[in-house]
Amino acid sequence: MEAIFKQLRKARIAAGLTQAALAGQVGCTQSAVSMMEAGRPEALSRESLEKLAKVLNVTLPEAVDAKPLSPSSGAGPAVCPGFNCPSNLPYAVGGEVFFMPLGTAGSGRHCVLCGELLARRCPSCGAPLSTPGGCCAACGAAIVTMPEGYADNPQSWIEDRTAAIATLRRALDA
Ligand SMILES: [Zn+2]
Ligand SMILES: [Zn+2]
Repeated sequence: MEAIFKQLRKARIAAGLTQAALAGQVGCTQSAVSMMEAGRPEALSRESLEKLAKVLNVTLPEAVDAKPLSPSSGAGPAVCPGFNCPSNLPYAVGGEVFFMPLGTAGSGRHCVLCGELLARRCPSCGAPLSTPGGCCAACGAAIVTMPEGYADNPQSWIEDRTAAIATLRRALDA
């Protein structure tokens, strides 16, 4: 089955709605609709996602409705959910920052690099993670996401991160 965000995007285009027009009907921002369509349904609240699906006459799949299973249960490869963890490589697509798990977080309960509880299931739909990658194969959601404050402005994260590395370099040189 096609990922839900792809279905919603198609349904919006078929309905002749722009992202902004749809956002207006749902009561969310155009950028949240845009992020959702790029495979990040967590950009929308559950309530907005339901409203949006209703406007477009699309049925949300069980997996999205179901309460996600505990992210650390299951047998998929382990991914560290820490966005600042060195086990995740940041990369940018169209001004948005994504993270590619490098597979260096270890295979225990906690990340060997930063100590975070490792995820083995998609944080959005609860599907077991298949191959290590930046996005869930089942729903397309990003596995590692930026916290709210940075998500709207990845540039500020890049600046903070650059400053942190410069501070570390100075400390090492001293
Ligand atoms: Zn980590
Ligand atoms: Zn998923």
